[in-house]
Amino acid sequence: MTDRHSGLRAPIYLDHHATTPMDPRVIAAMTEALCSLYGNPNSVQHAQGRAAAAAMERARQDIALFTGSDPRHVHFTTGASDAIQKALASALSDLGSCRAAAMSVEHPAMIRALNRHAQAGDIEIDWLEVDGQAQLSLACLTRALNEGATLVCLMMANNEVGTIYPVEAVMDLCEAHGARLVVDATQAAGRLDLGPIGERADYLILSGHKIYGPKGVGALVTRHLPSGADGEGFADGTPNAPAISSFGLAARIAMNERLADVAHAKALRDRLEAGLKAALPGVIINGDLTARLPHSLHVSIPGAVNEAIVARIGDQVAISTGAACASGAQEPSHVLRAMALAEPLVDGALRLSTGRFNTEQEIDAAVMLIAKTANDILGVRMTEQTG
Ligand code: PLP
Repeated sequence: MTDRHSGLRAPIYLDHHATTPMDPRVIAAMTEALCSLYGNPNSVQHAQGRAAAAAMERARQDIALFTGSDPRHVHFTTGASDAIQKALASALSDLGSCRAAAMSVEHPAMIRALNRHAQAGDIEIDWLEVDGQAQLSLACLTRALNEGATLVCLMMANNEVGTIYPVEAVMDLCEAHGARLVVDATQAAGRLDLGPIGERADYLILSGHKIYGPKGVGALVTRHLPSGADGEGFADGTPNAPAISSFGLAARIAMNERLADVAHAKALRDRLEAGLKAALPGVIINGDLTARLPHSLHVSIPGAVNEAIVARIGDQVAISTGAACASGAQEPSHVLRAMALAEPLVDGALRLSTGRFNTEQEIDAAVMLIAKTANDILGVRMTEQTG
């Protein structure tokens, strides 16, 4: 869709934390795969089945290269949420009921999965608090490990404010304490190098739709499941070979083009940030500014309620008031609460994220739209207060 006044694509898409548009190269490959890879990958007696199985093997190699892991350790899932559940099930079946440590700002998919196990009595959870930048305290984690946590769940980067977590230090701590580690790399994939983590973490979680690939496909990378487990009851049913092979291609592109992708998204993020700061002197940038995803911009505009902004410009620029799952329910963000942000900062919070296909013109148009709308709302409030 193109806006007939500006000639820009409308709405301008700045919500890459929620999902990414599929790369045209992945769309082309998936369209071709939907036509040609219709065989059941388990039907290896005939050519169509073998073609689908071979495409899945190629994707397994791609994900292994992307994550620095052994292809035998790559298991396909229906997304990151599914991979999280399978990682926890695998850990619990080996550890028995256990004590787990996880940050309070984990993705709802992780929080819900952990809580379900806690309700079933399989897990006792130490929820680790974070600071005002949503950053983890390694001292808190060390305390939890010293007190007996044998399972640690850590997102590599936060899906709301973009804070990056010290995964290597956490891997050192877990190894020293003999604890298992689940790393949710859903948001970090394609932005940070996963190479040093794939074989060291016990479980690594990925999702296709966050790396310009298809939805409904992801991976669990782990040495704790028998190889080929996705074809042997790990994922029931017929594997989605066209989606899996397209996910593999998306990962290959993300690996080969990561540095250029990151440079592009960061330059646009910095332009967006500078533009908003110039136009809205009261704007506050949230998250850990020394360890932040390169495409991530989380702002608060005190006094301009985020829902009012999104209601006015949501058809022209895709931004969000929180994570996709939380915002659907209009609940206050658990991440911003854990950061103990003051009420006006929570009410005025906007999550933005740039991506592979954004342009400078789009960023400039988005700055104008957001700033004008916020200033209108602030102006209205000022008039109300003085009137
Ligand atoms: N983990 C993180 C950090 C996420 O950001 C998301 C999605 O937003 C998920 C897990 C769930 O991903 P999926 O949609 O593939 O289930």
